[in-house]
Amino acid sequence: MVTLHFNGNLVDLLPRQFIKDSLVRFDLQRQTSVKDLIESFGVPHPEIEKILIDGAETGFGAAVHPHAEIEIFPISSASDFLSPSLLRPDPLVDFRFIVDVNVGKLGVKLRHLGFDTLFSESLGDPRIAAIAGCRRRILLTRDRNLLKRKVVDFGHLVRGKRPSDQIVEVIRLYGLRNKINPCSRCLLCNGLLYAARKEDVLGALEPLTKKYYTVFHQCEGCGKIYWAGSHRDNMDRELRDILRRAARAI
Ligand SMILES: [Zn+2]
Repeated sequence: MVTLHFNGNLVDLLPRQFIKDSLVRFDLQRQTSVKDLIESFGVPHPEIEKILIDGAETGFGAAVHPHAEIEIFPISSASDFLSPSLLRPDPLVDFRFIVDVNVGKLGVKLRHLGFDTLFSESLGDPRIAAIAGCRRRILLTRDRNLLKRKVVDFGHLVRGKRPSDQIVEVIRLYGLRNKINPCSRCLLCNGLLYAARKEDVLGALEPLTKKYYTVFHQCEGCGKIYWAGSHRDNMDRELRDILRRAARAI
């Protein structure tokens, strides 16, 4: 009999009949890797920080014997994503994201806060997974099957339904509160913004913008011009709310 013990919030991902005691027991009829076995119960491997088989830490490719006792621990706000680990020998170099279309508004919010974030409706699942894997980006999605792709090392199954909850969830999980740099990145193309002199952008401004605003930024990628309009108050309020909620203990 194989025993799997899912810890922390991994329990929420299990089929309903296993949620109560977070334990799965069954007769193993086939040879399998521990990654495939765990994922067959609905838990994508990027959600996992550590696996123990009979008390010994193992990688995703470890074979499971018929009497194995397996402990599975989740990634969390205490995880160190920037250092090598047994499950992820090639760590992140920074917190950069690729966001699936099913959480597209989360992607916009991440750019608002200054995080390097890719998303596009034209990217299919294989391409999204490949970019996440090859370019060391964190994949954010609500699609478990996308996260289960082997090439994906870093990713998170977004639990929140509302974008305002999702952004807090991500900031909290990856400890990004102190890395927020609002209005430093283009919402259209992900390029960085630089301070532009008014006289240099004058020709591209509407008459009222020209009249009332003096501080401008321009995207180094697509050239879009930004200025602090009335939407700025709403953004400041939203940012304060994110910081307050992200600071709370989980
Ligand atoms: Zn741009």
